[in-house]
Amino acid sequence: MARLVFFDLDGTLADRQAALSDALTCLCRSHAFSPDAEQWLRAALVDRATASDFARLRKCFGLEVSAAYLWQEYVDLMAAAVTCRPGVLEGLARLRAAAWTIGVITNGAGDIQRAKLAGTGLADLVDGVAASGDLEIRKPDRRLFELGATRCGVSLAAGGWMVGDNPTGDIGGGQRAGLRTIWVRRPTLARRTRRPAPRRRRRHRRHHHPAQRDGVTPWTSRPSASSTPAAWAPPSPPAPRPTRPRSCGARTGAAPRPRSAPPGSG
Ligand SMILES: [Mg+2]
Repeated sequence: MARLVFFDLDGTLADRQAALSDALTCLCRSHAFSPDAEQWLRAALVDRATASDFARLRKCFGLEVSAAYLWQEYVDLMAAAVTCRPGVLEGLARLRAAAWTIGVITNGAGDIQRAKLAGTGLADLVDGVAASGDLEIRKPDRRLFELGATRCGVSLAAGGWMVGDNPTGDIGGGQRAGLRTIWVRRPTLARRTRRPAPRRRRRHRRHHHPAQRDGVTPWTSRPSASSTPAAWAPPSPPAPRPTRPRSCGARTGAAPRPRSAPPGSG
């Protein structure tokens, strides 16, 4: 197998969420946005951001500043705020020293993704970048992986690896491209993507380790005073509860109402 490895950027090599919060705080303060506008912006940009988001913001809140100016300011703030752990840079440097070809395949606008790569120092460690905004093709589309390979000067036919935090875009997309994959499972993402239905969540909370109840596998969670195994004791088994009819309709198995219900009871 070729010594080729692709990485996702946001949430894998770089911490987008922390940078996003800092950048939006600076942006909203510098323009004295209302709390409603700030809340709208934080919700709109939680997963990804494009210049069109700022056009919508401007229209919704009647802002005078241009969308293009806001977008460029946001790009600059994100590039200044985004970080990656030292171990990431060291690891990539070791891969390069071992003659690996390194690419970044990322869903996002090309200008902001490249600004983040430059801001973190990652740009000097990769051979090629394919951003979905370059071709309006998003992971898991195989064509974005082919573009990444081309920009790295290699072919997907020789195989390689894809490393990312998104099971659909990174892992599914990598597999479609014929790559072996590594899923970087971060606690924040696990909480957002593995939210079980309320009834099932309650059952899990009653029986599982605190780290697991948050959707985090113990080996990826960071120990804390409230979640270390030493601080956790298994709860007593729940007492048996009497069964009683549910009250939210036929879809949930509610007991049928008696035909002779007294007047005024319905
Ligand atoms: Mg990601």
